[in-house]
Amino acid sequence: MENKQVKILIVDDDIDIREIYAEVFRKAGFNVTEANDGLEGLDKAGKEIPDVIFTGIIMPRMDGFTMMDALKKNVATSKIPVVISSHMGREEDKKKAEKLGAKDFIVRGATSPNQAVERIKVLFMEGNYFIEFDPYNLDAAKLSHDLNISKGFQCMECNERLVLKIHFDNPKEGLFSARFVCPKCGWILKI
Ligand SMILES: [Zn+2]
Repeated sequence: MENKQVKILIVDDDIDIREIYAEVFRKAGFNVTEANDGLEGLDKAGKEIPDVIFTGIIMPRMDGFTMMDALKKNVATSKIPVVISSHMGREEDKKKAEKLGAKDFIVRGATSPNQAVERIKVLFMEGNYFIEFDPYNLDAAKLSHDLNISKGFQCMECNERLVLKIHFDNPKEGLFSARFVCPKCGWILKI
């Protein structure tokens, strides 16, 4: 993370889970605040205006989706990016999260806490662009051979198609660096 500490609000009623995430985010340099359910999350979001909210879905008193809805109704909190931490990874929840404007949908069993940190960090990196890559065109086959990766450019962790992440090193001269990353689990192809 560059200069300023990113403030994250972690909302989950499972204290063990919440503590694990709180610790990995703190270690990664985040300023962490915690809330036990949607209602407390809503209250803390309004008072502390975090840079990002990482929330579970099913919680007592107020669930994550209801909280997202309520955040939008307050001008002070309406622009705070929300990332969903899903226990079950249900497709209907994913659709609902997208509809409510969630920035990401992280399935706990499929994504390690460290990968979750990487995915949330990406939201705060300027000058990064994620580009879809055609693995069946031009020199892609040669590249897959040279990189020792499948012809479909699939992630070695979860089989999702990799995307090309480009970072502008010197935007004025159009110079950038690029690497293949998995948009789903955060896996990075190291050469
Ligand atoms: Zn993956």
